[in-house]
Amino acid sequence: MYLILLGAPGAGKGTQAKLIADDLGVAHVSSGDLFRENIKNNTPLGLEAKGYMNRGELVPDATVISMIMSHLGTDACRRGALLDGFPRTIAQAEALDAALYSGFDSGIQKVIYIKVETEELLNRLSGRWICPTCGSSYHEVKNPPKVAGLCDVESTALYQREDDKRSTAENRLQVYFNQTMPLIEFYAAQNLLVEINGQQEVEDVKVDIMEVLTPLAGERSKPLVA
Ligand code: ADP
Ligand code: ADP
Repeated sequence: MYLILLGAPGAGKGTQAKLIADDLGVAHVSSGDLFRENIKNNTPLGLEAKGYMNRGELVPDATVISMIMSHLGTDACRRGALLDGFPRTIAQAEALDAALYSGFDSGIQKVIYIKVETEELLNRLSGRWICPTCGSSYHEVKNPPKVAGLCDVESTALYQREDDKRSTAENRLQVYFNQTMPLIEFYAAQNLLVEINGQQEVEDVKVDIMEVLTPLAGERSKPLVA
């Protein structure tokens, strides 16, 4: 099963993916997390991506596509994937379609578009704190950890992303409007898009998403022979 979480930076894709991927029995695949891991490990891919990320620009399509495709081929993704942050351009979406229909599986089952207004997105990004170990994200006001400054899961000290500062965040939103929003039409035209109101409590957003996705997970696990 292949699912996509679509939405602007700060819409809550990562937060929701962490809550639902296990329940759905698929791997959470975050392109941003994969890049940050490569940067931490000083790999050639990390070195290439770093400049683009710091400026709030997209990493070139060819680089992202090859990273995600090789990840989708790993054992971790054998039961499918919940894609978070990929695709972000029409070229990436076309490459994903080409790979899924020819190799990995029978295509994308659903695209969940988490909609949030721009001013709220900027507020969320400026108050976001991340766990360096597991990537969980918190908000100092809207979604605080149980103990201030520490991850609920890992107890590690949280950090703020360099690209979440206001000027870079504004640039990322502009990039989203120009390069990623066309994907809404792209997937709507394929009847795959479901819009979810992202401006509710985290738990309520989750309920709305699971209402759409649970039947898909159920279908998959039905026995083939009655
Ligand atoms: P994305 O992965 O789409 O960029 P995140 O999941 O990292 O977004 O969430 C961005 C910020 O907003 C984080 O600080 C997170 O704690 C907070 N957040 C996520 N969902 C909600 C929500 N429903 N209401 C308020 N804040 C939220
Ligand atoms: P957010 O969800 O807050 O936008 P991400 O962690 O998904 O942040 O992405 C951080 C940065 O990583 C992006 O600003 C971009 O530079 C790079 N990146 C992540 N995914 C992609 C992608 N699919 N295509 C191009 N660049 C990407």
